[in-house]
Formats: sequence, structure tokens, C-alpha cells
Amino acid sequence: MAQTKPAKTERDGGAPAPCDLMIVNGYVLSMDDKRNVYPDGAVAITGSRIVDVGPTRLVTARAKARRTIDAAGGAVHPGYIDGHYHATLHLTRGAVTDNPKPPADPKTGKPPAGYIDWFNALTDEDEYASALMASVEMVLNGFTGFIEPGTAFEPDAVASAAEDVGIRASVGDPFLWDKLDPEGMASLIERAPADGKRVERELGRQLKRNRDPDALARAHVALYGIGSATEELTRAAKSLADANGVVLAQHQNFTEEDVEFDTKRFGRHPLLHMAEMGVLGRNCTFTHMNVIHDDEVKPVVDSGLSIVWHPGNYMFYGISGQMKTRMPELFRAGTNMSFGCDVAKVWAFGELGFLAYLIARENGQFLPSESILEMFTRGGAQAMGRLQDLGSLEPGKRADIVIRRNDLPDAQPNLDVVRQLTLISRTKSVDTVLVDGKIVVRNGRMAQMDEAAVFARGQASAKRMVERCGMKPGTIWPKVE
Ligand SMILES: [Zn+2]
Repeated sequence: MAQTKPAKTERDGGAPAPCDLMIVNGYVLSMDDKRNVYPDGAVAITGSRIVDVGPTRLVTARAKARRTIDAAGGAVHPGYIDGHYHATLHLTRGAVTDNPKPPADPKTGKPPAGYIDWFNALTDEDEYASALMASVEMVLNGFTGFIEPGTAFEPDAVASAAEDVGIRASVGDPFLWDKLDPEGMASLIERAPADGKRVERELGRQLKRNRDPDALARAHVALYGIGSATEELTRAAKSLADANGVVLAQHQNFTEEDVEFDTKRFGRHPLLHMAEMGVLGRNCTFTHMNVIHDDEVKPVVDSGLSIVWHPGNYMFYGISGQMKTRMPELFRAGTNMSFGCDVAKVWAFGELGFLAYLIARENGQFLPSESILEMFTRGGAQAMGRLQDLGSLEPGKRADIVIRRNDLPDAQPNLDVVRQLTLISRTKSVDTVLVDGKIVVRNGRMAQMDEAAVFARGQASAKRMVERCGMKPGTIWPKVE
């Protein structure tokens, strides 16, 4: 972390140093290494960086701000980071069926169109409209960054959408796979065949974004994962991530079926095999990891990899019937954990902590709300490979900050601020969001952007997509017009 000295101290006896912006009178949850809380706290910002954090009386004595935001006692915390979001599938919400066993079309005998059809119908404009809508929804819910898992055909569409909204994104090369996966998905995406030559051309192309350290949209190495990569491709991707100081992200150990598929080809459980191949490490960010066998626990913990947990999907696909979640136990053993919304099926951003808490309780385990706030903030930053400059409120870090309001009924009586905001008011209380020192959300609305225009663009895209895919979304009830 680039250490920036706090502005002049009282002991220096000098005049307070100037800063651009100061948030005062907040309940500041710094999420620093000690997890210091400042019940009447302030954060001083200059440019894109935090320059001071502490009790309001001390920070105001040390620095004088050109602009001040009074948090009025509301919580102030680092922005949330979503560890895995297919931003180009955002508008499938309500279009792809939520019935896990949908009846076949009586005319064609085929199941209704789904995610694969949607991918195959996307144009660059649809990817942009979808990512724009996703980015607006995220930032309005207190998310200041997300990892796109490498399933945008045109990563520029996602990068531009994130930059236009003013949110951080990490993008990957599209659909890096070179063999058939257990679900056969790699044979169905028309623009991205499982072809080693294509993958060789694409691997690492997005990393050019990292030349600009100030860019909001940066890149990591992304494989699709879950059985769709040869060992050669996995090794090449890990080496590339190591050489570039970035994360290698992929889907992994989603269900018992894909674990069995990999166990057959490797002759042992996949995470054990990957550990022995030498491709697990602290810069690996694996999403799902629902099914982890006993002999895979040690390699996961020892490697220091990050898990992106989706407690909603775990329930949605009935994986709880295959294996009890190991997430609370892995988290306690020191594994970094983040949440990832994957696709916005029946949940919105910020709800996964609540689901995680309840899943732990259902299994006779317990995750305190403090752990959940860690997963949303520091956990997400580490999953993105950015803990050195994101994930906590400390001098030198980027100013990605959320201010909550505490005048909502769901924010009462607020005796335990962390529990109240992570589990109860969730994201309803988000009032102001700063990304890179800029105010993106103020009073719960986009500060610089016409939300209605973004929504209209998203709706127009969704309408086109539904028509192209032959979907008929809407209620099952009769419509009387
Ligand atoms: Zn995914």
C-alpha cells in the first residue's frame, strides 16, 4: 500500500493541511487490520485517495476540507465488491425461467430457452446495456467494484459500462476453455468454441488495461473452469497471472457432478490434483466451491486461495442436498471469502450476506455479522487481487466509501450497527457512494447519471433479447386488457 502520511498532526502545531473532501460525524467501520471502529469518525480524502481516518475531533484538527459531507451518525464503510458477476446476463432476470424443471414447449417438445440461447443472441449493444444496468444497480446498493468472470464476448462493453457509471470492474478474456465441460456448455456458445488456437490468441489480451494504474476497469486472467480446461491451459493461465501480478479466476467445484467428472480425468479430487500440479495459490479466486471433499480442505486452506461464495445459488440448485456448506469452517480456518451474485436470478446485490448467515445457522454453524462485512469488503478486495489499495478505509488506500443513512425503520434501533446494516437493512440504507474519491451516488440516487435513461436502454435491450430468444416472460395469471 502506498503510505500517505496523515496530514499535519496536532503535535506539529501547524495549520490544518488542506484536503479535498471530508466525511465527518460517521460511525466509521475502517475494516483495517485491527478492525478499528470510530463511533464519531471522519475520513479525509484528497484526489482518489484517503489521507486520514480517525475520530472526527482529531481528523478535523489535522486537515481542513474544501468540501464536507456530514454523515449524521450513519455508518461509513469501505465499498462492497462483488467477486463474480456475469454483467452481460443481468437482463435475463425474469426472462429465464425460475422453474428448475420447466415443462417442454408443447409445439416443439424442446425445453424453454435459457442462458445459452441468451449468450448466443447478445450483440455488443446488448452487452453494454446489460452491464450498464448491472453497474448502476450495484453502485446504488453500495458496491464499488465487481469481477466479471470472462463471459463477455466484448470485454470493452463491460469495461466501458463500468467506467461510464464510475464503478470498478475487473474483466477477463472471453470464454477461455479448450475442452468439453461436463455440461457440454463449451460446445454450445457459438462465438467462443472450445478451441485451443482461439484460446491461445485470447489468453491475456485484456491485461493491457493494467498499464494504467488509475483505470477503473482493469483485468485479471479468467478461465471458465469446472472441467473445461486442459491441464496445459490451466498451467499457462496460472503462469500468466503470476507473471502479471493478477488473479486467476474460474468456476470450480460447483456440483457433485462436475467434481466427479474431474475426479475421473485426474484420478483424484480436482482441488487435490490442482494443488499437486502447483496451480493453486494466493492469487487464485475460485467461484462456487460448493462441493469440497475432506481431502480437498487442506489444499484449499494451505494455498491461501480466495473463494467466491454464492449462498443463493447453493440453495437454488439444491446443492445443500449434496453437501453441507463448508464455508464457515473454511473462513474460520483463514480462507479468504467474498460473495458473488453470479447472475441476478431472484436476488439483488447485498442479499447474499443474509443468505450466508442463515445457511450457516441451518447447518448448526454461526457466522457473525462482522465476518459477513469482512467478506463484502476486504474479502472482495482480496478476491480481486486489490487488497493493497481497496477493501478498507486507511490512509493511502483508494477512496471507495459508502455512507449509510440511519433514519430508516429497518435501521432502528441500531444498537448493533454492523448487524443492522449487514443483515437487516442490508442495502436499503445506502445513501452516498464514492468511488476513487468521486461521488457517484448521493441521497440514494445516481449523482451524475440519468437513471431513467439507463433503465430505458436496459428495458429495450431485454425486450429485443426476449424476442430473439423466443421467450415469453411474465406472470402465469390471465391478463385482462
Ligand atoms: Zn458464474
